[in-house]
Amino acid sequence: MNDKIVGAVYEVTRKYKDPVTNLSLDKNNKNFSIIYNEGRINISINIQPNFKEKYKTLSYNLKENIEKLNEVLSANIILTSEKSQDDNISEKQRFSIDAKNIIAIASGKGGVGKSTFAVNYAVALKTIGLKVGLLDADIYGPSIPRMMGITGRPQANENKKLVPLINYDVKCMSIGFLIDVDTPAIWRGPMVMKALEQMYNGVEWGELDYLIIDLPPGTGDAQLTLAQNSKLTGSLVISTPQDVALIDARKAINMFNKVNIPVLGLIENMSYFICDSCNTRHEIFSSGSLKKEAEKYKTNYLGELPIEKKLRIQSDEGRPSCIDDVNSNVSKIYLSIAKKIDDSLN
Ligand code: ADP
Repeated sequence: MNDKIVGAVYEVTRKYKDPVTNLSLDKNNKNFSIIYNEGRINISINIQPNFKEKYKTLSYNLKENIEKLNEVLSANIILTSEKSQDDNISEKQRFSIDAKNIIAIASGKGGVGKSTFAVNYAVALKTIGLKVGLLDADIYGPSIPRMMGITGRPQANENKKLVPLINYDVKCMSIGFLIDVDTPAIWRGPMVMKALEQMYNGVEWGELDYLIIDLPPGTGDAQLTLAQNSKLTGSLVISTPQDVALIDARKAINMFNKVNIPVLGLIENMSYFICDSCNTRHEIFSSGSLKKEAEKYKTNYLGELPIEKKLRIQSDEGRPSCIDDVNSNVSKIYLSIAKKIDDSLN
């Protein structure tokens, strides 16, 4: 019975959005909870205290509409303010890198093209004249060395810091340079963080306009800690358009919202396929979903990339599209995304 009433209350609340985060007041919203006790509904919304005024109308509307439900005697809306997890990180714990912008490339799911995007985005930024570093934090499957066409081991300099390896004028660091990628490595939580800390603070990055971080897929502790410790300017979320990938992309968006890291935009990868023989567009994984998600989460939709055999070959052979064929349709899309974000940050 209680579940039924709580379900009916959610039916009402999910029509409303948090006025600050724009997230729906539904079961996925971690800042929002409903408790039912003998006819009384207690709703708690975790808010940032400086935005308290913005919740007045919402609280009024929620109370009024929930109390219209037959089973509900009264509804209480309680605004709480926990310290966000981000506030609990001391400055000392945060990585220090001399970069004007630090952007994390994230996807909920693996295999959706996150690293391919990170590589081409980094190279596109370089092409428009910026100083760029690329950090492969995907400790579970580091693919940046291969995609950037880099082999070799970074050397330590006189300050005992590792010197990034450079190709296409982009400074790169990856756990893949330090371990044998074919050896299965079992990375436990603390070991992961230690390795990553080494790759941030133990690297002589120099002065950068952008550090691009290829995050590990998923939204677990490693990703969350990384997002919190990296003084991120913002994040970009990549996904393919089908539901199985989108579900995880939403988790990534929610993770960034939770720790107050702006999601600068969403990108749809493998959005369509242009057939070599008939030259028509096929939407293999469906298309347009990321645009809808961007509207839902009130973030920017930055564009869609086709699924293309040539792009896969270029990645495998370590010649990013934006280097190998800078005038191709795909390279132009990467370049336009890089410019769009750069304009929005300046
Ligand atoms: P992730 O980082 O999300 O695990 P990757 O970037 O490693 O994904 O991509 C997985 C595979 O898909 C790679 O072989 C890559 O070359 C290929 N790939 C990624 N995006 C495209 C695309 N738009 N067209 C064709 N192949 C792609």
